Amino acid sequence: MGDTGVQDFPCDLCGSDDCAEIEVARHYMGEGRLHVCKECGFVYVRRRRSAQAIADEWSDELYQTKYTARIPAIVARQTFVAEFINAEIGLGAKTVCDVGAGEGLFLDMIREDRFGADVFGIEPSGANGKLMGELGIDHFVGTIEDYAASGKETEFDIATIMWTLENCQSCLGMLRSTAELLKDGGHVVVSTGSRILVPFKKPLHYYLGPNEADTHAFRFSFNALARALALSGFEVIAHNRYIDNDVLAVIARKTETPSSHASVDEWQDVVGFFDRWHAETQEFYSGT
Ligand SMILES: [Zn+2]
Repeated sequence: MGDTGVQDFPCDLCGSDDCAEIEVARHYMGEGRLHVCKECGFVYVRRRRSAQAIADEWSDELYQTKYTARIPAIVARQTFVAEFINAEIGLGAKTVCDVGAGEGLFLDMIREDRFGADVFGIEPSGANGKLMGELGIDHFVGTIEDYAASGKETEFDIATIMWTLENCQSCLGMLRSTAELLKDGGHVVVSTGSRILVPFKKPLHYYLGPNEADTHAFRFSFNALARALALSGFEVIAHNRYIDNDVLAVIARKTETPSSHASVDEWQDVVGFFDRWHAETQEFYSGT
């Protein structure tokens, strides 16, 4: 492997270097470390490889050997998000770009015969691109940054980022590149299972998992996701009831000027949340 460009990053949302380690995460993350920003409460992996190295790991390692969207739990959560989008802003006759489209199963679900969307996928994995081709889905093989830089003229009504924003190297980079793909007044939909500061939905060893820490560099509360969207030129217009759902799904409209979402999370609250989660996991679920 060549230069993987490993470096330490400041907080992606506010730029501060002042952070605290979430020490209980060490029990579950191997060599990886998880930090919380003392300025704004954002939870992130400080030490990361290059965007390309992380995209390559998802393409070459995780997708090929560990991950597939073809299981009932993932079909269920994708169905939930499709119904949520359709209820809030409608999918029929809309042009929809899925950023990090994977095997194309979400796009397959929302296109003509079911929800009526006109779909396109952006996906770094060539193997996944081939699967999309077999489904007859138009697509681009590369990262969102590659696509934005390729000078494509397409402007979409809706961009979806499904369980992907937490897995990239720069969450603001991904959102800002996505904004460039949208029509004025278009919408981005972000869904993530990395929701925090709400009731625990799974044991901590399932949540933090065994993969390299930087393949899952961000953990979003609603406040953190709303701020990331505001900083990238979006205004939140809808979200699901995430407090008792595995999914945090947010719909935001592209705006002329960056808006602001002032609410931050107190970093001590974040540390306390992970401390309680660790204690409960150890007490009740450590053998599972
Ligand atoms: Zn911060």
